[in-house]
Amino acid sequence: MSQQSKPSSVSRRDIARNAKPMICYRVENLPPKRGDAGLYASLRTAVSGGNDSLVSTLVIPPRDARSWQVPAGHLWRIVCSHGPQVADMNCWSTRDPRDRFYASKTRQIHATHLTTGDRLWSNMPYLRPLATIVEDTIAYGFDDDGAGVHDVIGSRCDPYTHHLMTGEDVDDCCHSNLVRAAAGDGLTEGDVHDVLNVFMCTGFTRDGNRYFAKPSPVEVGDYIEFFAEVDLLVSASTCPQGDVSVACGDVGGTPKTYPLTVEIYRPKEGWLEGRGWSASEVSGYGGNHGLG
Ligand SMILES: [Zn+2]
Repeated sequence: MSQQSKPSSVSRRDIARNAKPMICYRVENLPPKRGDAGLYASLRTAVSGGNDSLVSTLVIPPRDARSWQVPAGHLWRIVCSHGPQVADMNCWSTRDPRDRFYASKTRQIHATHLTTGDRLWSNMPYLRPLATIVEDTIAYGFDDDGAGVHDVIGSRCDPYTHHLMTGEDVDDCCHSNLVRAAAGDGLTEGDVHDVLNVFMCTGFTRDGNRYFAKPSPVEVGDYIEFFAEVDLLVSASTCPQGDVSVACGDVGGTPKTYPLTVEIYRPKEGWLEGRGWSASEVSGYGGNHGLG
């Protein structure tokens, strides 16, 4: 006689609430970084050790954006040079600007906030590392409120949301700053994408998971340093919120804003090739989504 299994008394809600969180993407399953085992550790000291030398410097004025090119294998730093200031950064492959930074997949692969060792992945159908963070002098980790630095959870301040909340038109939001910089590179507003929030200190509240910000912990002399895994065009905006001590749309006076400095470094001839490094390649997926 067959016996029908009794319906479980444990609800799906209870199973979910009692289950341990499962990491969805394990970084160790991704293709390893190229080059010998110690290469990325030595990139952290490539400048001080004389393996990379400064080739150009530029200053991003307050409430504005600038763009710059970084050949594959070069490093760039965004330096807090004048005062506490956050920046919103975009990057594109110079060969095809559709191959650009993909903040949400980067967040799924690494974390809500990026630091040394994390890679900046590009969007589909390319999905490859565009850059790797080789130094983060803040190394904030996560504080008691769950806040971290250099997030990929916010997008960017923009004139459309500002208009919805205040009725005002402003043209120096990070989105507009990035649009103006992109226009100078032959790109359009549609090429501006979700950002890496450099130096910004953010998180989600414990009650309600609302997006919050804190004043940036960045101090003069801090920097974040990236290694270009392909030829890149990079752009960054100095946010009109300065160090983000005041919430968007709040009346609290004009935030203090500062310039940021960008430094680009070239590796010594043959240094990277001698260590087995080569530029990243686009995804090897060869299907056509079942379309035949
Ligand atoms: Zn902004």
